[in-house]
Amino acid sequence: MKKIIIAIDGFSSTGKSTIAKQLAKHLGYVYVDTGAMYRAVALFSMENGYINKESFDTQTLINALPDIRLQFVYNEQLGFAEMFLNDKNVENDIRTLEVSQYVSRIAEISEVRAKLVEQQQKMGQERGIVMDGRDIGTVVFPDAEVKIFMNSSAETRAQRRFEELTEKGQNVTYEDVLKNVEERDYIDTHREDSPLIIADDAVEIDNSKLDKNQQFQQVLKLVQHSM
Ligand code: C5P
Repeated sequence: MKKIIIAIDGFSSTGKSTIAKQLAKHLGYVYVDTGAMYRAVALFSMENGYINKESFDTQTLINALPDIRLQFVYNEQLGFAEMFLNDKNVENDIRTLEVSQYVSRIAEISEVRAKLVEQQQKMGQERGIVMDGRDIGTVVFPDAEVKIFMNSSAETRAQRRFEELTEKGQNVTYEDVLKNVEERDYIDTHREDSPLIIADDAVEIDNSKLDKNQQFQQVLKLVQHSM
């Protein structure tokens, strides 16, 4: 069977990674979470003091980009690849609300995007990949065989993210998570470089009222149709 590229884009916390992981497992494909890459660059910028509540030194970050090495390392037990930043496993560190509060500003920088997009395109050279993000069907793989755009209400998404974070023991409020989801949506849809938009040939899925299995079956049908 021919190997294809499946691009999954959409707003924050729409369950993109859930469906992407299910598909990759079912098809024996590689799963790539591009949000993790932007989060790792945000973490690097925070740790080095390039970004904080008061300021953002974009030029120093741009100059430091060659020093940032991002790798996905497959974890057999978890069944997915974890994010490594300069040889350190940062999979947990990049999932905090603090990183979420800075990441969209990092993702506005064209030089950051160019570096990550180049790495993402290399990962898809052999096809057989499920990639999720904001610009996968529009910029990274405009020729992807399947393009899905996920959406659901901001409240549903914030509730999901809130449960995820509190389950991990993070001390956050629903209101802060909702505010962050709305802020990121705004920045992601309004930035100049590669804004979050629906590709002309993407299929839109609103999963506010679908359970995980219904959603998976719907997407699997689309995928099988393109193989
Ligand atoms: O997918 P996730 O919510 O982890 O992504 C974190 C942030 O990274 C997004 O809010 C967005 O600002 C940025 N991002 C992006 N392009 C991608 C993936 C993520 O700009 N392809």
